[in-house]
Amino acid sequence: ALLITNSCINCDMCEPECPNQAIAMGDLIYQIDAARCTECIGFYDSPTCQKVCPIDKTIIVDARHPECQAELWEKFVILQGVA
Ligand code: SF4
Ligand code: SF4
Repeated sequence: ALLITNSCINCDMCEPECPNQAIAMGDLIYQIDAARCTECIGFYDSPTCQKVCPIDKTIIVDARHPECQAELWEKFVILQGVA
């Protein structure tokens, strides 16, 4: 999963772009629900939130939730309810 760091300026760009509805406003800045973030696997070649974010390196890999490609695909299948 990916993580939104404190560099976030709450520009609202990423939230509507997430294909998994994993992004929502938190107490101070936007947050990613690690349980819903597939790093865009199943939808795009690369994380679309990182593409639209105007602040470089604000959205990074979440070191607390390291996942291999197979695990991300598994999450995609579960979220889609097609297992
Ligand atoms: Fe959503 Fe993709 Fe960003 Fe994860 S990487 S939060 S799935 S847009
Ligand atoms: Fe924050 Fe970047 Fe999302 Fe804007 S696009 S709300 S700066 S994480």
